[in-house]
Amino acid sequence: MSSNPPRSDMSELAPGSPQQGPQHAQQQAQLEVARLAASPEVRSAFNWFRMQEPQLVHWQMEMARIPAPPFGESARGEWLAERFREVGLDDGRIDDVGNVFGIHPGFGKRYVSLSAHIDTVFPANTPLNIRQQGSRIYGPGVSDNGAGVTAMLAIAALLRTVRLRHALPFVFIGNVGEEGEGDLRGMRHIFATPRWKDSIAYSVVLDGAGADTIVAEALGSRRFEVIVRGPGGHSWSDFGAPNPIVILAKAIDTFTAMPVPATPKTTFNIGVIRGGTSVNSIPESASMKVDIRSTSMTEMERLEQGMRLALNRAVEDETMSAEMRSAAQKRPAGVSCEVVPIGSRPAGELPQGARILQVIRAVDTQLNNAAQVQRASTDANIPLSLGQEAIAIGGGGSGGGAHTLQEWFDSNGRELGLRRILLTLLALSGVEG
Ligand SMILES: [Zn+2]
Repeated sequence: MSSNPPRSDMSELAPGSPQQGPQHAQQQAQLEVARLAASPEVRSAFNWFRMQEPQLVHWQMEMARIPAPPFGESARGEWLAERFREVGLDDGRIDDVGNVFGIHPGFGKRYVSLSAHIDTVFPANTPLNIRQQGSRIYGPGVSDNGAGVTAMLAIAALLRTVRLRHALPFVFIGNVGEEGEGDLRGMRHIFATPRWKDSIAYSVVLDGAGADTIVAEALGSRRFEVIVRGPGGHSWSDFGAPNPIVILAKAIDTFTAMPVPATPKTTFNIGVIRGGTSVNSIPESASMKVDIRSTSMTEMERLEQGMRLALNRAVEDETMSAEMRSAAQKRPAGVSCEVVPIGSRPAGELPQGARILQVIRAVDTQLNNAAQVQRASTDANIPLSLGQEAIAIGGGGSGGGAHTLQEWFDSNGRELGLRRILLTLLALSGVEG
C-alpha cells in the first residue's frame, strides 16, 4: 500500500456546516488545496508528470489504434485492463457490459472515482490512421477520449510511483457506451450495481482534452429513430404509391422550421437518413435519426411533440397525394410510421454547496487556471441525475475536430491538466499535506 494514514480525522475536510456557510467551506477548500500543492510529495508528483510525456503519448496512440465503436469496445477494454495491471492497480476486472475497473487502496468504505469513456463515435471499419507530428497527434479518437484515458492512466501510474497521502480509496474506470447510441450505458450500469451505486462518494469524469471547463450540469437529450414504411413498388408501373422518402423529407422540412429558444439553449439535428433500394423502385421504407437536446425537459418534450406532429401531417399529405395520383388504380395506401426512442439522457444539477465544485474551483485558483462551469452531456449525467456529486473535466493539452477523421491532440499543456486532476482527487479523498 503506497499511502499512509491521514494524520487528522476527516471532519476537518467535510463541507462547511450550515452555520459556517458556503463561503467558509470554499475558504476551507482553498486552504486545503494550497497545503496539498505545497507538499513535497505533490511537488515530486508534478515533476514526475513532466518526465512521463513520451510514455503518455505512446499509450494514447496505441489505444487510438484499437477500434472501439459503440457496442464494440471489448478489444480496447482488454488493452486497458492490461495497462491497469501494468501500472499496479488492484482488483482489476471487467464487468458484464465491458467497463474496466482498477482500485488504488485507501482508508474508508467509499470511493473517489476517476473515469474515462473508452468508446468512440467511429464505426468498426473506420481507418485508424494515427500519426504524430511534433507535440501533436492526429487521428480518430486521439482526443475524445484518448486524452481522458491517457490522463487516467497517468494518475494511476503516478499513485503507484510517488507516495501520496490520501484517505478515501480511488476507483479507476474505463467505461463503455458514452458516445451516441451507447447512451451512457456503461455509467448507467455502474450506478445500477449495488457494489458501486452508493459507494462512489465523488465522480470525476475525464472527457476529451483541455483544462478550461468544468461540466457541473447535465444537458439532457432525447434521440429517436423514425421509420416510415409504405407498400413500395415499381417507379413506372406503380407510380402514385406513397413514397416513404418523400414523407420523411416533408416531415423534416416542417420539424426543422420549429423555433427554438436561445435560453434555455435547445437544439435539434437530423444525423442519419436512410431509405430505398434502387433508382427505379418506390421505396418500401425510409428512416432517420433525430437528436434533440436542451437544458430544459419542457423544451425537449415540446420538440418531440413537434416532430411527431410533423410526421403525422407528412403521412396524411402523402397519403392524400397518393390517392389523387393513383385514383384510377384504387391502390391501398398502407403507410405506417414508427418512432423508436434510441436514447434518453437525463438532465441534472449538482446539489447546492457541493464539495466537488468547491474543490475544483479551489484547484483552479491554486493553479491560476481560468475555467468555466458548463452544462453538457457526459458520463457525469448519470450520477448528477441521481443527486450525486460529479463533474466532467478534460485530460489536459488541447484538441480539436472531435468526432471527425481530422481529430487532433496537442500535448502542450497536458501537465496543467494532470496537476488539476491530481489535486482534485487528493482533496476529494482527504489528505494532510
Ligand atoms: Zn467523449
